[in-house]
Amino acid sequence: MDFLPVFMNVKGRPCLVVGGGEVAHRKASVLLDAGATVKAVAPEFSAAFGDQQGIERVAERFRPAHLDGATLVIAATDDSDVNREVSRLARERNIPVNVVDSPDLCTFIMPSIMDRSPLVVAFSSGGASPVLARMLRGKLETMVPQGYGRLAAFCARLRDTVKARITNPQTRRIFWENVLEGPIAEKMLAGDEADAEAMLLERLENENAAQHGEVYLVGAGPGDPDLLTFRALRLMQKADVVLYDNLVSKPIVDMARRDAARIFVGKQRDNHTLPQDEINALLVRHAKEGKRVLRLKGGDPFIFGRGGEEIETLAGHGIPFQVVPGITAASGVASYAGIPLTHRDYAQACIFVTGHLKDGSMNLDWGALARPKQTIVFYMGLHGLGTLCAKLVEHGLPGSTPAAIVQQGTTKNQRVIKGTLVTLPGIAQVEKPQAPTLIIVGGVVALSDKLAWFNPKQAAGSAR
Ligand code: SAH
Repeated sequence: MDFLPVFMNVKGRPCLVVGGGEVAHRKASVLLDAGATVKAVAPEFSAAFGDQQGIERVAERFRPAHLDGATLVIAATDDSDVNREVSRLARERNIPVNVVDSPDLCTFIMPSIMDRSPLVVAFSSGGASPVLARMLRGKLETMVPQGYGRLAAFCARLRDTVKARITNPQTRRIFWENVLEGPIAEKMLAGDEADAEAMLLERLENENAAQHGEVYLVGAGPGDPDLLTFRALRLMQKADVVLYDNLVSKPIVDMARRDAARIFVGKQRDNHTLPQDEINALLVRHAKEGKRVLRLKGGDPFIFGRGGEEIETLAGHGIPFQVVPGITAASGVASYAGIPLTHRDYAQACIFVTGHLKDGSMNLDWGALARPKQTIVFYMGLHGLGTLCAKLVEHGLPGSTPAAIVQQGTTKNQRVIKGTLVTLPGIAQVEKPQAPTLIIVGGVVALSDKLAWFNPKQAAGSAR
């Protein structure tokens, strides 16, 4: 961060604008909106100032004495010497100074703002690109209803009442989030303030502080943060505690609420940092403390994710939970590798299996896998690659059947290693793919020569 974002209280405070043009007038108006006592100094004033009430105009050249008593100063003249002088003198006196379009001369900069008073959102690019900041503001302007100002005022009015009733800050935050995300806010936005207030007070009456813990079992997709669902993102912003394992990419973990506690629960092949029942117990413990617990899992929680086991324990303890599907590795990785899992000419079915070795062998229904016109996706299969290729050939698939290993699909480390059932194990020994890897077998694999579109090198920020 190049600047510290703060909102300053300038109500009734003397603020100085040096300059008499349109820009100076615009700045003076913002100060006025914030309740400041505004003085503008310039040899002459443009027509823009003509109809503005409340700005004291001093028709003089700028002198150091004009700074006396100022809480802050904005220089907006077209004379760079004057601007520089204002900046120098203000700094000498420790008066915050902004010089329009000259970040070097500023001790503070003015953000682009979205005003839903009392709710105000400020956007700044730290001077890097004011246009970008304004564009972002424009986007948000369209998303945030005008009624949010009234909603914020409503909350302000009831804040003390809620505070008196719910003393635990965490429980209070959860209460407000429920208010703002549910029917009470809807009522308020629809203009029915009295009803909204009655509903809020009723909910406050029934508030039972201890019972708000819940668990969100959320699929984080295969790696690229862009593949998260809206719901996943929303719950990530709400959670108090995040439990994640190493299939979840770092940029995704970073998107969880800033002040949420993060707990790494590991899970690598043969190296479970925490045994599954301890993970289950952790979920229960945090939820029982009244927290909102986010269990983030790679891909989809219900596809080779043990999601079922985790929520069984929760259900047993009567803890509320919800499950958010994610893009499973097969789907995400195949897309990014240019391998359509089904295709009218090559595959009418697609089967997901685990290639995880148990006691050194794979107990799979090979006859059902080795069928024509079927794509097979092996999760956790790399260590058994030799076995599974041999078994498929043994059960009738031609040795020339295309097969691929996709390493760290959808991230900037994605690699697609291709061969056939006969050649792939040897190729893998040379190429040494890095986990996680997915193995895809079937005619569709050959299509990736034509359909690959994703360039991992350009996938900034999606590393694990
Ligand atoms: N629930 C997850 C799967 C967990 S099992 C899902 O739905 O995707 C772990 C296996 O998923 C890994 O061994 C690997 O086979 C596969 N996998 C997960 N993410 C992957 C990725 N980005 N690229 C390749 N394989 C991946």
